[in-house]
Amino acid sequence: MSGGLDSQLAVRVLQRAGAYVEGVAFATPFFASDAAEKAAGALGVKLHVVDFTDDELALLRGPPHGFGGAMNPCIDCHVAMIARAGELMAGLGFDFVATGEVLGQRPMSQNRQSLGIVEKCSGMKGRLVRPLSAALLEPTVPELEGLIDRGALLDISGRGRERQIALAAEFGIVDYPSPAGGCKLTEAGFCRRLKDLMDHEGLGDRRLVELLSTGRRFRLPGGSGVALGRDRLENATLRKAAEDASSGWLTVQPVNAPGPTALVPAAVKDDMRLVLGLVCAYSRSDRLSGNVKLALRRFGDGGGEAVMEVPRPYDRDLYKEYQIC
Ligand code: SF4
Repeated sequence: MSGGLDSQLAVRVLQRAGAYVEGVAFATPFFASDAAEKAAGALGVKLHVVDFTDDELALLRGPPHGFGGAMNPCIDCHVAMIARAGELMAGLGFDFVATGEVLGQRPMSQNRQSLGIVEKCSGMKGRLVRPLSAALLEPTVPELEGLIDRGALLDISGRGRERQIALAAEFGIVDYPSPAGGCKLTEAGFCRRLKDLMDHEGLGDRRLVELLSTGRRFRLPGGSGVALGRDRLENATLRKAAEDASSGWLTVQPVNAPGPTALVPAAVKDDMRLVLGLVCAYSRSDRLSGNVKLALRRFGDGGGEAVMEVPRPYDRDLYKEYQIC
């Protein structure tokens, strides 16, 4: 369950076909489960939220069926989700897994071939029901065994939304997010950050993945990655991450002027002058008559604090070449 309209309709159609339904939602730093939680609450179905981060990170290293338009490994992501749902199905004593997929709705992941690949590669052959398009697909085991009424399943296909919107009105579903969006792996800007992380630190440290949306991003010539907070909330998030990490992460922030917190998880000595200049350039130091004072704090074993002074002004344009986004 994504929580989108199609997944909500799938629940109601299945219930109308005679099934008892519980929801499964997946959560990662790239997409959250809140819309599914809200939808499950509105529909009155129990929801299982599965931490899918390690599965998704493994796919990002080389999805067997490739990426979509950005870094979205949609076919393999569906395969892995259905496989995980299948494990839950077996463990909880359910008979089948269902999705709100609609035949032909998405060019890469919901054409007839992709739907077949997902069913086969997830190990759920015959046990994967798409209630919104089932009448256009081969009958599944629960339909053949009469566990659900195939006649109550639908024949929706294509990208149009008219049938779904009419059905929503019929079922009294009024609250659903727009069909597009929700997964950061489809966003070009986010994917630049992700690619940079993969090329440098790699995907082994989940904390770095979770911070990917926070701050402006820079990659300095010596290899240091810098996240620079854009507002108070991001500054606090970066400081908290450094405190929690306890592993040599460094923060830099101005002491005598308002300005951003920079988080440098693996600072390279040769980059330090640039790190200090960067924080200075984004600080509001125009009213200072003297230097900008910067507090450097290294966390974890061998950590410590120091205050350094940097002359202002620093021109932000100097750092454009290092900015990822
Ligand atoms: S859009 Fe994101 S969550 Fe959805 S299938 Fe593709 S990679 Fe997975």
